[in-house]
Amino acid sequence: MTADELNGEWEGHDAEGVIRRAWEAFGEGLVFATSLAAEDQVITEIIARNGWPIPHVTLDTGRLFPETYTLLAETEKRYGVRIRVFFPDAAAVEALVAERGVNLFYESVENRKLCCRVRKLEPLRRALAPYRAWLCGLRREQSVTRAGLRVVEEDRANGLIKVNPLAGWTEQEVWGVVAARAIPYHPLHDRGYPSIGCACCTRAVARTEGVRAGRWWWEAPEHKECGLHSGSRL
Ligand code: SF4
Repeated sequence: MTADELNGEWEGHDAEGVIRRAWEAFGEGLVFATSLAAEDQVITEIIARNGWPIPHVTLDTGRLFPETYTLLAETEKRYGVRIRVFFPDAAAVEALVAERGVNLFYESVENRKLCCRVRKLEPLRRALAPYRAWLCGLRREQSVTRAGLRVVEEDRANGLIKVNPLAGWTEQEVWGVVAARAIPYHPLHDRGYPSIGCACCTRAVARTEGVRAGRWWWEAPEHKECGLHSGSRL
């Protein structure tokens, strides 16, 4: 079935129902790419509670917060899952830093996207390569660039089906479930960081700012994607 057909069938189901359908449809061809965001932690909990043997992968860009590694280890222990970590190609990072500097991303959108390509997109491509479909914790509400997000989309960049079980969830729903099920979450969320990525590209936000305001805060809202979630509606 195409992404459009699957979306037509799955759009009205709750998150657990969508993940169940994805597992039934793709089986061992399904993977979950987690960034350990609160949304991703909710998906990890649902998968673990149902005992679905869906592999988990994540990216270590080399610029993460120390707390992210603590949460990764805690999540593995809590849910009895091994989250396979993919790293950027060392030679590519060395060449990029040698050419443009260690903090190149502050200098231009082009530099920032180049860094994201080397540290995120290429490792994600390798992480997803063996699979036919992947689960992702994106929500429509998170930013202007995600307002049109669908539950099932075609990820043309990686040649996969992308499934967003929480597409229609509000922030309140996510945190309600995190609290109700005592799901471990990133400690920086309690210190004003609603969205957490690389340490050098993430800051705390004021209550009046949007959820994604602290990501690449020096850029305009329409640029605030790293390419992991574009090109397909990804
Ligand atoms: Fe590089 Fe920043 Fe993108 Fe991380 S978020 S890959 S440090 S530009």
